[in-house]
Amino acid sequence: MTQPACPKCESKEATKSGVVAGRQRFKCRNCGYHFTVAKVGREVNTFYVVKALQLYLEGLSYREIERLLGVSHVSVMNWVKKYALQVPRQPQVSPTARLLSQPELQVYLLDPTHLAGAGVVITAVADKFLVLRWELLQEPPLLKRRAGSAGTEL
Ligand SMILES: [Zn+2]
Repeated sequence: MTQPACPKCESKEATKSGVVAGRQRFKCRNCGYHFTVAKVGREVNTFYVVKALQLYLEGLSYREIERLLGVSHVSVMNWVKKYALQVPRQPQVSPTARLLSQPELQVYLLDPTHLAGAGVVITAVADKFLVLRWELLQEPPLLKRRAGSAGTEL
């Protein structure tokens, strides 16, 4: 069985503390917080772990990833920690993601404004397609700097 992480402090030192509404109740040894876990011992499929980490890498928030993939943001936080994922933040880019069916995806791609200046990454999630789009909030600084400097960032 996988030891559940405390939602408050993320400690994995929890002891069983009764059953509430059919769900195992735990008490965190670290901070004393009581919490229940719906699916004790059920590990999330690696497919969704990788997908969640991809989205995190692209700059989506834990809550957005939870909303899109249906895995708890606490799980995502734990995976980021477990795999020591560090991501440089891009303040000039705002990523947005949506789940579309195939017909919706076709309509989406026919609209040139969805692709202009941003582009999208499309991956499959269950029977839908996850469309990740980078919205440029401002002109990329790299292009501005190249004119006057001898930078070799490209
Ligand atoms: Zn705790």
